[in-house]
Amino acid sequence: MSSVQYGSDEIILPQHATDDSAATTASSEGEGIADSANLVKENIGVQTAMKAEKKPEVPKGLVKMCPTCKNTVLAEDIRKGLYSCPKCHSYFRIPSHTRIRMITDPGTFEEWGADLRSADPLEFPGYTEKINAVETKTGLTESVITGKAEICGEPVCIGVCDARFLMGSMGEATGERIAQMVERATEEKLPVVIFTCSGGARMQEGILSLMQMAKTAAAMKRHSDAGLLSITVLTDPTTGGVTASFAMLGDIILAEPGALIGFAGPRVIEQTIGQKLPKGFQSAEFLLEHGFVDRIVERKELKGVLYQLLSMHSDSGKRPSGLDWENTVPDGFAVGAYEKQETDADDEKKQTAWDHVKHSRAKGRPLGQDYIQGLFTEFMELHGDRNFGDDPAIIGGIGRFCGMPVTVIAQAKGHDTKENMQRHFGMPLPEGYRKALRLMKQAEKFHRPVICFVDTPGAFCGTEAEERGEGEAIARNLYEMSSLKTPMISIFVGEGGSGGALALAVADQVWMLENAIYSILSPEGFASILWKDGKRAPEASEAMKLTAGDLHTLGVVERVIPEPDELTVASMRPVLESIQEEIRKYLVSLDGLSGEEICKRRYKRFRGL
Ligand SMILES: [Zn+2]
Repeated sequence: MSSVQYGSDEIILPQHATDDSAATTASSEGEGIADSANLVKENIGVQTAMKAEKKPEVPKGLVKMCPTCKNTVLAEDIRKGLYSCPKCHSYFRIPSHTRIRMITDPGTFEEWGADLRSADPLEFPGYTEKINAVETKTGLTESVITGKAEICGEPVCIGVCDARFLMGSMGEATGERIAQMVERATEEKLPVVIFTCSGGARMQEGILSLMQMAKTAAAMKRHSDAGLLSITVLTDPTTGGVTASFAMLGDIILAEPGALIGFAGPRVIEQTIGQKLPKGFQSAEFLLEHGFVDRIVERKELKGVLYQLLSMHSDSGKRPSGLDWENTVPDGFAVGAYEKQETDADDEKKQTAWDHVKHSRAKGRPLGQDYIQGLFTEFMELHGDRNFGDDPAIIGGIGRFCGMPVTVIAQAKGHDTKENMQRHFGMPLPEGYRKALRLMKQAEKFHRPVICFVDTPGAFCGTEAEERGEGEAIARNLYEMSSLKTPMISIFVGEGGSGGALALAVADQVWMLENAIYSILSPEGFASILWKDGKRAPEASEAMKLTAGDLHTLGVVERVIPEPDELTVASMRPVLESIQEEIRKYLVSLDGLSGEEICKRRYKRFRGL
């Protein structure tokens, strides 16, 4: 923590391990103060905010009662704890300029649109007086502050809503400030970060307030169509017209723990349905569970997480660093890949197909999450299908492969019974496939390769899967994956059961570990359907041609990756090295190829089967 004096108010700045600039501030506090002082002189907007700081959410009084735990706590301690209660750790709302100081590098914030003020378009009785009173009380001129800044050196356009200004409601000037900021971000090819906090539309501006939802959404769409990144951070409370427009339109949606997020306010819902809402309804955690939020991020982690996301995107499309790119062009990459295994054909013979099946299901065999951990750095899991839920049977996110940003999607079983149950034994629900597709589309937008790890007995079997359209979800993935204009690799690491596996395997390259299997159905299911006897599974597995070797011969997979005798997390190093090398070679072989050409090859690959 480093503290910087702003007039009489002490503001606490967060300091992250990844934040070089914060370290500079800590080592030379005087400089930081000078920078801020210059900024104040140059920028009227900041000056007004400095006035606003004099009436922060935490009052000037020495003590304050925490609205959550009702304990009396020192205001000083609240500020020191990044505006959280020292007793129950719940968050207080943050004044917009304090937020900007917590998140952006000192001296980099340049305010835009400060002259855009509400013009009382409906000539609503008493509205002008109300605005004037709020301005005087808070020093703010609208419910959002917008501008440009840097986050650990990454340039961004930023908007921060402020609940002190008419509950952060969206008036004409609010919408205009956001739209102008997003449009300028589009022109300057910059990412957008918006902190939302709002009661919704502003009643006193009527239908023109409603129009701001369309205006801001349209600006976000143009920004996205230009291939640019937007991140929204939902803070307490984010409701109504703000939720139903720009807040929910970020490529990546983060939320602060415990934040109230919804469309209708809880009291309105309770009055409408005549029931009390359950605890935690419309909380950030509730939204995560229902698939609408990518991640919940603690306040002290926020700057670091934003930096990681921004840098991963500003590096997108770049080649892997740390690779000797020019000298790793493979010899005859496309052919003869399995030769090494062919020479081990005698060993292969010793194992029956049923042995492979048993290996693929063995307890202790590395799981999707182990491959993620072993092959990618800075992996950040992103949750939810933005539709219904977040399926624990599929882990998806972004990370770096040899420094290159990639999207990673893995079917995940559990290491023990408890985790296995929590992950539905690796059997994805429709929301799992829809999350995967959402992340694949995002990868395409940002020109990131997609790397999938397949390990599933099959798609989830149950009423809920049917109600939500398991068949539709799988079909949709096959359809969309066939034309995704970005490199795609699928690696079978365990079981490859049916359409549930194929829904992550319409890839340019499909590889299998030596003991992985891939089949139309489980051998047990196959035997019971064909021979009415599930016990004949070993015989069925032989007939089904489900081993990696068989599938390579059939041309269903390009590559088989050798395994040690007993593959466990402890013995998986050589496997990780092989996979890493193969991925590197493949990405090198694509150098210079357009998305369309990659797509065409993928079409031909499946067309030929
Ligand atoms: Zn508390």
